[in-house]
Amino acid sequence: MDIVRDPQQFQQQALAARARGQVTALVPTMGFLHEGHASLIRWAAANAGRVCVSVFVNPTQFGPGEDLDAYPRNPEGDAALAEACGADVLFMPEPGALYAPDHCTWVEVPPLAQHLCGASRPVHFRGVATVVTMLLNLAQPDVAVFGQKDWQQLALLRRMVRDLHLPCRIEGRPIVREADGLALSSRNVYLGPAERAQAPGLHAGLLAAAALARAGQRDAATLKAAIAAHYAAHVPAGEVDYIEIVDPETVQPVATLAGAALAAVAVRLGRARLIDNELLQP
Ligand code: AMP
Repeated sequence: MDIVRDPQQFQQQALAARARGQVTALVPTMGFLHEGHASLIRWAAANAGRVCVSVFVNPTQFGPGEDLDAYPRNPEGDAALAEACGADVLFMPEPGALYAPDHCTWVEVPPLAQHLCGASRPVHFRGVATVVTMLLNLAQPDVAVFGQKDWQQLALLRRMVRDLHLPCRIEGRPIVREADGLALSSRNVYLGPAERAQAPGLHAGLLAAAALARAGQRDAATLKAAIAAHYAAHVPAGEVDYIEIVDPETVQPVATLAGAALAAVAVRLGRARLIDNELLQP
């Protein structure tokens, strides 16, 4: 596996691979890789001849007061895991290499950035859309792979790629969880023991709503109230940022379940802000 830090070198290699007719998959990450990332890289290795993984803690997707400086990092561990999962190239640029000091070009997808995480993280999705556009331009992938854990991000990037006619497919992969249901996340290291013990309640509350929907409950307010009640009982240390039921494609809130809908939550638990989601199938 090659480790590349220089964006221009990364792009030259990508253009040469494309000219040779090689199919490239890109897996963008912020590093501190875990089994969730590993599942994306393994999928990429099974579906493309050339696999690029990027590790970049993108400063522009963090708001003031968020955890940019504290974000966990482990470059050596990331390199070992990426290589073991079948990566051919690991792209690890310095922040200054991607953003010129007078950088001023942004990609925005406002309707999909309005709700859920966008409400409490106003600059987040602008940063994500901009850095993913850069990474797509540098890596020239045929397919870029993202996790459904960040469902809103996935929906927004699909729309961006469609609207801008970017020559790349977006592949969304299922959430990888601990045995007790907690979605794997680099930020889980922020959880203290008592918080970690409550954290599986996040998914359990979503599963309770999914069961209600399967049993015929179509009223979003009732389903949200059921999740909130579950959190009050089982995640008492959690401070709910949002509990929302949205259209899976547009991520706009729905009042009544007509077809499948997405239950999405964000909860602050100690220093961690955890997100999770589950499809509700009426
Ligand atoms: P991050 O490093 O947190 O920015 O995540 C990089 C990619 O990995 C994103 O597409 C995430 O959605 C995906 N990802 C993170 N955690 C998981 C997980 N538990 N299961 C599946 N994909 C994940």
